[in-house]
Amino acid sequence: MTKKKIAVVGNGFASLFFIGDLLPLPVFPLFAAFLRRLHSDYDLTVIGNGRFVYFPAIPEFIIGKRTTADITVDIRPFLWRRNIRFVDAKAIDLQDGGRTVITTDGAYTNDALFLGIGPAFTVDDIPGTGAYTFSPCNGPDAMEAFLSRLEGLSEGVVYVGFKLNKRDGFVAGRGGQMYECACLLDYALKGKGVRDKFEIHLFSPDIEPGAAGAITDSLLERGIILDYGYEPKAFVEGGMLDPDGTFRKADLVLFTPGITAPDWIRRTCLPVSEGGHIDVDRYGRVKGLENVFAAGDCGNHENPPPWVPHQAHMARLRSNAAAKNMREVLRGGNPTHTYRFELSCILNMENDALWMHVAGDDKPPFRGIFPRHSKKLVTVKSAFERLYLFYLRHL
Ligand SMILES: Cc1cc2nc3c(=O)[nH]c(=O)nc-3n(C[C@H](O)[C@H](O)[C@H](O)COP(=O)(O)OP(=O)(O)OC[C@H]3O[C@@H](n4cnc5c(N)ncnc54)[C@H](O)[C@@H]3O)c2cc1C
Repeated sequence: MTKKKIAVVGNGFASLFFIGDLLPLPVFPLFAAFLRRLHSDYDLTVIGNGRFVYFPAIPEFIIGKRTTADITVDIRPFLWRRNIRFVDAKAIDLQDGGRTVITTDGAYTNDALFLGIGPAFTVDDIPGTGAYTFSPCNGPDAMEAFLSRLEGLSEGVVYVGFKLNKRDGFVAGRGGQMYECACLLDYALKGKGVRDKFEIHLFSPDIEPGAAGAITDSLLERGIILDYGYEPKAFVEGGMLDPDGTFRKADLVLFTPGITAPDWIRRTCLPVSEGGHIDVDRYGRVKGLENVFAAGDCGNHENPPPWVPHQAHMARLRSNAAAKNMREVLRGGNPTHTYRFELSCILNMENDALWMHVAGDDKPPFRGIFPRHSKKLVTVKSAFERLYLFYLRHL
């Protein structure tokens, strides 16, 4: 029987969760590559840059707990152990309704396609974003650049902020991560004994002025100034402009715009949602195309609850459903697997932590065995990271 050809574009969270769910881990990982040659039903190709980044640990660069090397994995050995072909290239177009992926290194055909191409950011929303702000969402290098500028300041005003894209009815943005950055910045400056020389502001046009809750309490406890409801008209040299044009001084701005899908998809046969994502249904299928699936930050949700975010955690749930459904369609059946909506992340403040959790079915994380507010969650968050990176590096 000829093996079905599956192409996976991207080697981030969504794609690696998808692969993990499509190919169960053998009992003896040492012989994995050999066993998969004998048993694999699929001929898999991954198109990407070969470099996996564990984004959730980037805020910890601020307190010197993580470096680029700690959170980056060369993913090629992981793929080799699974007998998966790797193509070091970028996808630039899709043809034949998704059956052919055009890349910077030629064309690759498939029987089924999975897209895990991650986010793009709406940097044009606020003029000056690209030139005058740093974002942890642009990866380890951008965070290192922010920190080296911070290192050069003996005092100053730092603004930390985010904007969300809610046009698809869910939260396409990085709110929690920016709260985490503000709190870790407070911790780091206190550790250096210079906290009183800095003002830290948290701003977002998407948070109502006067909003209250556990996160707001944590920010206020740390003396972080809340600029909820604030959106600058532009970022400029040395600061930003208020909507009425008044100049506001900011020595450094760490800011994340809203999330959408990468621009090149708009020039392909892929359907695009109102908010600029790849338009997928609740089975993870790209609407209107056969045997094409997408998950993670590049895809919208069908009928989402308004609180559901883009997260690695959601990427896991979505990729799992997409993998099961792809198996079904390749067997000639119909997709039947949907996924749960869940917001779940640990907000690490280093001297404290909060488990932010909302689930469509009200189930608590891990059957409620962990506290929701405790410094111990810092260790739990690190343990998740270590386990996942161990899996990618060795299993
Ligand atoms: C600072 C920060 C902190 C975070 N903290 C958390 C957290 O605590 N918990 C949580 O659940 N989530 C967290 N997230 C969110 C999480 O990292 C994302 O939701 C997750 O990375 C999405 O996975 P993805 O596969 O869709 O995208 P990515 O992980 O970004 O992967 C996209 C992949 O596609 C590749 N790619 C892109 N374009 C192409 C192309 N044209 N051709 C080939 N390959 C391409 C990229 O190289 C990459 O390999 C955080 C994010 C950031 C930035």
